[in-house]
Amino acid sequence: MTLAPNVYDAEPIPEAARAEIDRLLQSGDLFRYTAPENAPVSLLEREFADLMGVKYALAVSSCSAALFLSLKALGLPRDTKVLIPAFTFAAVPSSVVHADCQPVLVDVMDNYRIDMADFERKLTDEIGAVIISHMRGHTSDMDAIMALCDAKGIPVVEDAAHSLGTLWHGQKIGTIGKIGCFSFQSYKMLNAGEGGVLITNDPDVVARAVIMSGAYEHNWKKHKAPEGQNTSELEDAFARWQNKLPLYNQRLSNLSAAVIRPQIPELERRVTDGLRNHDYVAEHLNTSPWIDVPAPLAPETRAPDSIQFNLVDMTDEETRAFMDAAKARGVSVQVFGMHTDNARAHWNWEFIGDQGALPGTDKMLMRACDTRLPVRLKKPELDFIAGALIAAAEDVKARASVAAE
Ligand SMILES: *Cc1c(COP(=O)(O)O)cnc(C)c1O
Repeated sequence: MTLAPNVYDAEPIPEAARAEIDRLLQSGDLFRYTAPENAPVSLLEREFADLMGVKYALAVSSCSAALFLSLKALGLPRDTKVLIPAFTFAAVPSSVVHADCQPVLVDVMDNYRIDMADFERKLTDEIGAVIISHMRGHTSDMDAIMALCDAKGIPVVEDAAHSLGTLWHGQKIGTIGKIGCFSFQSYKMLNAGEGGVLITNDPDVVARAVIMSGAYEHNWKKHKAPEGQNTSELEDAFARWQNKLPLYNQRLSNLSAAVIRPQIPELERRVTDGLRNHDYVAEHLNTSPWIDVPAPLAPETRAPDSIQFNLVDMTDEETRAFMDAAKARGVSVQVFGMHTDNARAHWNWEFIGDQGALPGTDKMLMRACDTRLPVRLKKPELDFIAGALIAAAEDVKARASVAAE
């Protein structure tokens, strides 16, 4: 019998990181701006920009910092309203509040994607920016979102914290809006413990974000335009913003960059394995009458390292019993809305004030289950997880039918 798989440990950091970390420990050169050039953080930025096919990347201390700096770099006045999905991680409304703006929540449907009718209704002239959170890698209708925002000249920031490797019509998620933000926290595709990065093709956006991230004095000179490209576009932007902006010191350490860089060549394998594992488990789960794994939208190619599914025809009591039954069978499941402190349930964001009714999101949160599915899992472990979840639903429903007799 296969034992319940460990779904908490990350993949080991590639061996190649050791030599570079040892070199950094020997030299004590941990600060990104000490070396005249080619600091690990600068190399990471160039490699990440090239990977994504964009001009500029700025590595920072977290994706939350990247989101905050994105809003600051857009120059939004105090109290600007920023539209965000009602289903996301608490970091997103928090970054809006941190940037002195006001979050406005848009409703989400039971496939975890933005309700476009509510989006259109709430995209008023008061909205100064939109953050699209590709929550757990689920991509909303980016064609419709970009058409509506472009028509109104509203900038879109993509929170792709947990979506590195996801494609939309074959285009990399995070390169569709004006700015894309990613996380290097341990539960994401590239793991440095903590860290984040923002990407853009806009020289003024990146120049402003670089300065505010803590490139004091002339440290911005260590941020280079892509090789072979005109460098004056970026230099002119830095000259425009020099001494005009506050410094929030949200830089990344060289040690973190040294941990991330050797993982970049692993990304393609992680994405392929993650998608194969997810779709394998999804296919099994969808054979249960009590479980529904929503299909991706047609243009979307996912890069999952967890699985979300909805319980079908279950009461609140049965939903709680399902979590207990799954746990008893060795698989931990969270129903987003069933815990008093889940950071992805919008009613736990008491700091943003009343947002009015969000019926689609509320209904979804009370039945949507979240299970980790690290990309390193093998088929027997996937079978164990799928089998335990299907059996847990049957446990609950068998009990219910006995009770009804
Ligand atoms: C993890 C995550 C964040 C926050 O990333 P940090 O690097 O921990 O700040 C934001 N949004 C989503 C959707 C996430 O999954």
